[in-house]
Amino acid sequence: MPFQFQSPDAEQRAKRVEFILMDVDGVMTDGRIYLIPDGKSGCNEMKTFDVSDGVAITFAHRVGLHTGILTGRVSDSVTWRAKDLGISIVEQGSHNKIETYEKILNEHKLADSILCYIGDDWQDLPMMRRAALAVAPANACDDVKKAAHIVTEKPGGRGAVREALEFILKSQNKWNDAVQRYQT
Ligand SMILES: [Mg+2]
Repeated sequence: MPFQFQSPDAEQRAKRVEFILMDVDGVMTDGRIYLIPDGKSGCNEMKTFDVSDGVAITFAHRVGLHTGILTGRVSDSVTWRAKDLGISIVEQGSHNKIETYEKILNEHKLADSILCYIGDDWQDLPMMRRAALAVAPANACDDVKKAAHIVTEKPGGRGAVREALEFILKSQNKWNDAVQRYQT
């Protein structure tokens, strides 16, 4: 499926990606947050994730790419989803995402030049301007879309991550390796 937008150099940029860092709300989810009172003066936060995104994350790991989460909110749902998928870096509760981004780069010896960042709103812009490949889901705000090398056809929580990862793996000629076990 074609993207809403793809910069002329997007494929070259995708070839360099070794690590995919994702926002959660509006990227891995549709952005809706369900607050469920726990009956003890607090509440639990529920989110919904997309299975096809999860499959693509698993495929990416299978062929040697790494993934991480960078989000301003804190939720057990995210902890569980990341654990389920083997997402190696999980940073929740970040009030200054670019500071946390710098920390991630330093701690894990990563560089902008091998990073893909997927974000949907203003707080994601600093990382999108730095990463080799910046991806915005269809629901992203206009300014984020303008900063992206790719704007996916599908919105966050509905396959945007799948589209981005499939493009990266295919650009790197790794898609066939990822799905090889299902081909008879
Ligand atoms: Mg977001």
